Amino acid sequence: EPTVGAGPRAHATVDLDAVRESTATLVARAGSAATMAVVKADGYGHGMIPCARAALDAGATWLGVTGIEEALALRAAGLTAPVFSWLMAPGEPLADAVAADIDLSASAGWALDEIAAAARVAGRPARVHLKADTGLGRSGAASADWPALCDAAAALRAEGVLDAVGVWSHFAFADAPGHPTVRGQIGQFIEAVEVAEKAGLRPQVRHLANSAATLVSPEAHFDLVRPGISIYGLSPGPEVGRSAELGLRPAMRLTARVALAKRVPAGSGVSYAHRYVTPAETTLALVPVGYADGVPRAATNLGEVLLAGRRRRIAGTVCMDQFVVDVGDDRVEAGDEVVLFGPGDGGEPTADDWAAALGTINYEIVTRIGPRVPRGYL
Ligand code: PLP
Repeated sequence: EPTVGAGPRAHATVDLDAVRESTATLVARAGSAATMAVVKADGYGHGMIPCARAALDAGATWLGVTGIEEALALRAAGLTAPVFSWLMAPGEPLADAVAADIDLSASAGWALDEIAAAARVAGRPARVHLKADTGLGRSGAASADWPALCDAAAALRAEGVLDAVGVWSHFAFADAPGHPTVRGQIGQFIEAVEVAEKAGLRPQVRHLANSAATLVSPEAHFDLVRPGISIYGLSPGPEVGRSAELGLRPAMRLTARVALAKRVPAGSGVSYAHRYVTPAETTLALVPVGYADGVPRAATNLGEVLLAGRRRRIAGTVCMDQFVVDVGDDRVEAGDEVVLFGPGDGGEPTADDWAAALGTINYEIVTRIGPRVPRGYL
């Protein structure tokens, strides 16, 4: 694992104490439900393995990922907690997953058949969570197909090749507390569980809640909650609340070092297409991170950073590897620290500020930080 200070140009520092504190908040909110820390997409850009360890230290007992490669990487790192991997396309190496004791999801008959075939190869029953579409309209069996999926799982269970340990689903509007679909999806979910039980299945792990529902919808907790974004200290959305009010502390701080500072006259065009022109003689600071590192190109003339004690706007086009900041007459030199975002306690913008400025969500800001930016851990 990289260490703090490993990135001379840019660096993401992840405070694992913040991950532990935020996880502990979610575990407490979950009450008697168990907590699955969702660590997919490299721990939402924070580093999957260190964050998984920190979340388990703080009381999470399950880990959630989307892909089998991610699940196997958790096992390769020596993590023995239950792991749930929920997205697959036909033809994936499911026997490896079953052999590694990874819980899998099925939304359709083909998935159950592939899981059963893999279990026969692995020589052990597979653990499966059947997914119902209760209203998100994404994965999960449509309600018309649900009874047949449950019956197929019951038949394979009778054969001894799989155990349908779970029934699960996912919300469409959990980040809008009070939205009528939340209640509606909970109702649909309870019905789906009843259908599974009528088919002879005994799902012990019923799960529906993401971060928002873990924090504000206790009626959605069932046996297990699946928070992702809030494990990393970020709020699932402005309507749910600000991170500090929710007992969360943002874990990532993204910094860079000024690569060049230079005086230029008034009227100087800055970066591609001169989308910024200096209004007066000024000092320009070059920041050596760009859209290949995850700074959105849409932040052109819009994103803000903390540099030399003040928040300052990006001047001109964000390039693949660099952007420019106009610092006026302030003293800035090569090597000075630039904070792109962090928890906000030092005056720097937050991932929420970036998301609001760019019309996106904090999830996208943190997960897009690219592989060239080393992660270090506090
Ligand atoms: N469960 C599923 C199926 C998901 O796709 C996600 C995230 O996308 C989560 C849980 C975690 O959601 P959040 O990050 O909003 O807590």
